[in-house]
Amino acid sequence: MTFRTRFAPSPTGPLHLGHAYSALLAHDAARRHGGAFLLRIEDLDQSRVRAEWEELIYQDLEWLGITWDEESIKQSERKDAYLSVLSGVSPAIPTFTCTCNRRDIQLAIGAPHAEDMAFGPDGLIYPGTCRAHHYDPHLGDLDTLNLRLSLNKIAHDINSITHSEYSDISFSNHIQSSMTLAEFPDRIGEVVLWRKGYAAYHLASVIDDAHQGITHVIRGQDLREATHIHILLQTLLGFPTPAYHHHDLIRDENGKRLAKRHDVKAIRKYREDGATPADVRRMVGL
Ligand SMILES: [Zn+2]
Repeated sequence: MTFRTRFAPSPTGPLHLGHAYSALLAHDAARRHGGAFLLRIEDLDQSRVRAEWEELIYQDLEWLGITWDEESIKQSERKDAYLSVLSGVSPAIPTFTCTCNRRDIQLAIGAPHAEDMAFGPDGLIYPGTCRAHHYDPHLGDLDTLNLRLSLNKIAHDINSITHSEYSDISFSNHIQSSMTLAEFPDRIGEVVLWRKGYAAYHLASVIDDAHQGITHVIRGQDLREATHIHILLQTLLGFPTPAYHHHDLIRDENGKRLAKRHDVKAIRKYREDGATPADVRRMVGL
């Protein structure tokens, strides 16, 4: 069996126990299956990325005993790959140009109270304001445009978006997870794929998973719903769909997700306080 998985952190802050858990889980699975563990630096959000955080990722992983099998890739260096997917003569992914900011979207939804609004994996479900502005790659300047996935331009022979969801890390027993294209507008919406010169997360991660030949994606539950977007994009682009495992999220003693805490303790701090990698494994239950 071919087994290739990855860890794809963003250098926008120090790694914490939640990152360590995800990285160790994927790394251990690759070693157990005699496969490959790859590293990808998701550094597209240049306003939040810092070189020192990237350096710290390498140091923390090394300290944890995590080694990657091929040269790591950086999304900031892959713009041409993302552009080529959107700027082809007949792009496989239909998109429309969107000029809405968050306020425009709230006004278009017309819901004065947050509890009346529908949220998808990317936040507020887009109300479709700019839907008619179909993007023509001959005309647009992608450095100034935002593009969204044009759901009503997708051929209706794609009815169902299905993937295998492995329920444990032994990858022995799996369940099917699926969504129909008809459910997409209400649950997911027309997500942003391109933002003023940069590929957005969903597009970049799908292109990079294919580029790195990923067969098994191991990541947190918080991305479970977004996986439907990724599989739809893979289908449109003719990419293979990996198997997915969405692991539980590491929480503090009050049940709050570590990623939501501002005072979360960095792996570096554990290291400086004299903890060992084995201590970190114990803390995350591995
Ligand atoms: Zn718009």
